[in-house]
Amino acid sequence: MKAVVVNPQSSGVELVDKDIRPLESGEALVQIEYCGVCHTDLHVAHGDFGQVPGRTLGHEGIGIVKELAPDVKSLKLGDRVSVAWFFEGCGHCEYCTTGRETLCRSVKNAGYSVDGGMAEECIVTADYAVKVPDQLDPAQASSITCAGVTTYKAIKEAQAQPGQWIVIYGAGGLGNLAVQYAKKVFNAHVVAVDINQDKLDLAKEVGADLVINAQEVEDVPGLIQEKTGGAHSAVVTAVSKVAFNQAVDSVRAGGRVVAVGLPSEMMELSIVKTVLDGIQVIGSLVGTRKDLEEAFQFGAEGLVVPVVQKRPIEDATAIFDEMAAGQIQGRMVLDFSQGH
Ligand SMILES: [Zn+2]
Ligand SMILES: [Zn+2]
Repeated sequence: MKAVVVNPQSSGVELVDKDIRPLESGEALVQIEYCGVCHTDLHVAHGDFGQVPGRTLGHEGIGIVKELAPDVKSLKLGDRVSVAWFFEGCGHCEYCTTGRETLCRSVKNAGYSVDGGMAEECIVTADYAVKVPDQLDPAQASSITCAGVTTYKAIKEAQAQPGQWIVIYGAGGLGNLAVQYAKKVFNAHVVAVDINQDKLDLAKEVGADLVINAQEVEDVPGLIQEKTGGAHSAVVTAVSKVAFNQAVDSVRAGGRVVAVGLPSEMMELSIVKTVLDGIQVIGSLVGTRKDLEEAFQFGAEGLVVPVVQKRPIEDATAIFDEMAAGQIQGRMVLDFSQGH
């Protein structure tokens, strides 16, 4: 089968022919239809989390179950399922047993610690593969598998209530979906902040009540305080220390700041403001199986519509090069459905 694997010798990735091993107890074989390409894949390819040569990339895979180990009860042949970054937890630690399985210290991650969905076939742990509703377009589902569930979970962590103000810092792939979930699912009032006007225009189109171009406004938190009385919460998807610092200053007393973007810097956190205003700063990583099931369902109901662009698998290395060069607009999804 064709697979996109890590190759430290070439530009980071290559398209190869690879054999798939036989199924073991509890596993299912998935014929992949689509797999999104994400910045996390680029980090894996570049060895930023440790070298994994030969690893099949991809944690935004969607496909159809075509073979099951004899003991599998949770899936049946023909089910459409996802291959997500949260691939498998241990199932018995304090995190796995208290609804926080993404924090499991023995977690497996698709396309990093185990082979992922960027191949014609992928082996999944059946109990951890989340089913995709029939009404949801599979290419769009690939985007919800990562960006969608990540932002949906972050807004949950923000405890956004109907009618409250939430600020989304960064209006790119993650931020655009965050705006949609915040507005259409949580019924919040939404401010989107970015330095790119095209992304802000898109955010406005999908429901942002207020958009702020941080390159044209001197005091972003000041403007948010003026327009909203201070937001109830903020979700930071931007890979920028400035955005994190602004987010803390944008919320009202008792506000929550949820960190999602991963700039490799420190944020400045005023201890006085944190204490006196009772500010909460929370990190949020992807989402549980249940979060993903919910995020899919809102997609299936048409409340949240990811914008994706399908590309042939032969374009895989070119897409990684474009991503490394910062030339990608929107979500690229590798189309594996053509060969079937
Ligand atoms: Zn991703
Ligand atoms: Zn665990």
